[in-house]
Amino acid sequence: MSWELDWLENRARLSPKKTAIIDEMTNKAWTYQELNDRAISTASWLHNQGVKKGDRIALLSPNHICYFDLLFACGKMGAVFVPLNWRLSVQEINEILEDCKPILIGVHLQFSSIANQIDGPSSFLIGGTIYDEIVSYKKDECCSIDISETDPMVMIYTGGTTGKPKGVVLSHRSILWNAINTVLSWNLDAEEVTINYLPMFHTGGLNALCIPILLNGGTVVLADQFTGPGAVDSINQFRCTVILLVPTMYHMLIQTLEFQNNKFPDMKFFLSGAAPCPLQIYDAFQRKGLAFKEGYGLTEAGPNNFYISPEDAQIKRGSVGKPMLMNAIKILKADGKEAGTNEVGELLIRGKHSFTYYWNNDRATQETFKDGWLCTGDLAKRDEDGFYYIVGRKKDMIITGGENVYPLEIEHWLAAHPAVDEVAVTGLPDEKWGEIVAAFIVTKPPITLQDEELRAYCEPKLGRYKIPKRFIYLEELPKTHVGKIDKKKLIELCNKM
Ligand code: ATP
Repeated sequence: MSWELDWLENRARLSPKKTAIIDEMTNKAWTYQELNDRAISTASWLHNQGVKKGDRIALLSPNHICYFDLLFACGKMGAVFVPLNWRLSVQEINEILEDCKPILIGVHLQFSSIANQIDGPSSFLIGGTIYDEIVSYKKDECCSIDISETDPMVMIYTGGTTGKPKGVVLSHRSILWNAINTVLSWNLDAEEVTINYLPMFHTGGLNALCIPILLNGGTVVLADQFTGPGAVDSINQFRCTVILLVPTMYHMLIQTLEFQNNKFPDMKFFLSGAAPCPLQIYDAFQRKGLAFKEGYGLTEAGPNNFYISPEDAQIKRGSVGKPMLMNAIKILKADGKEAGTNEVGELLIRGKHSFTYYWNNDRATQETFKDGWLCTGDLAKRDEDGFYYIVGRKKDMIITGGENVYPLEIEHWLAAHPAVDEVAVTGLPDEKWGEIVAAFIVTKPPITLQDEELRAYCEPKLGRYKIPKRFIYLEELPKTHVGKIDKKKLIELCNKM
């Protein structure tokens, strides 16, 4: 394997004794030397099991060091690492296994009952003595294999927020350049410490912050269940400097007394990503004088694409910033022309961090790439100072009576109502209007709200066609495995009402 692709080996040479990973659940820690040794042993064991270049190795596990063992082992021997969403049903997992046909699957002890119901690959258990033997297996020569930067390294199945999960193939080049680009553009240094609460089968948990921090020699703390008070304790205990959470987690965090009572002296910035962030969360951090900002990413694009400084994030609230150092961005209007200042269009991305193709899905690959540009399916605009704003998903845009409505604009306004705790806006089919705007509201208990009250609140701010025709009150909003509001489920719910 060429030296630049096996950067963990070089990192272990440069900072062998530095702590790479800490497991918060067990309090175990591993240095870069140990992490690299585990990867070589795991690669040797896989090789001994008959795994060859290009073979897929799947994993079903909660957050655990095995993600890095298998990721780097696959990297060293040219296999493809496929982390799986353990929140899926057995049938859904089997559908994915049928699609990617791994020859081995690692199953954590916690999910051992699922191992018997899995079709296809042989399984090995993670978390017990057998696994300890794998990560200390005798090292052989499997790592001298010839691997090029365009060879696949990881395949992540998308969340399925808008359809059936698709296998996103990420090459060695994509993983490396996302990490380089992130480290440089976000000014990360070797002393960075992060704690990861996002599931590591998702790009947010694996690629967004953890791999860039490891490339740069920082420390990653692995956590599992997120709770607001627990997160505050852990951030302080491990002296974390950066953290990435989804808006739902921030929503929980800012309501805790622990958050109110802490100063977070080591934190350089709190980063929100994966979904639009309500402006009330910005307010909560601003009131405490803490640096808070938003990032935008998608599995197919590495995932990171933009950078904003904490200072700019205060002025340009809701912006994801400017394109990172080594990627190109453009916004195309429906007529195919580039959007001007403040005009909305589809966001297109180009760079070495981009994915290569969808597994077994040429049609989706062809639809996603236009002249080498990755079409994100998201709508965005750029302001007069060059700052970008994500307006929403193209598929979520509502067309009511011929007018385009962007749900995020309405969500931001409704979320600012003092009695509203959470809100989601979608289009619902309608005979007269084509679609109508519907708002799903969770109120702050014990307060209840009436439609008339909310309509009157919207009137001065929103054009008439944007004001929701239906308000639906729920106790909570359904969320996806990574904590995004699941609009598909909301629409299904409405169909049943
Ligand atoms: P699927 O592709 O199967 O529908 P998914 O969209 O959840 O699943 P991910 O790669 O997890 O796939 O998420 C990427 C999407 O998340 C982006 O395309 C965008 O719609 C949304 N997103 C990410 N960050 C932001 C942000 N800061 N603001 C608004 N939306 C965001």
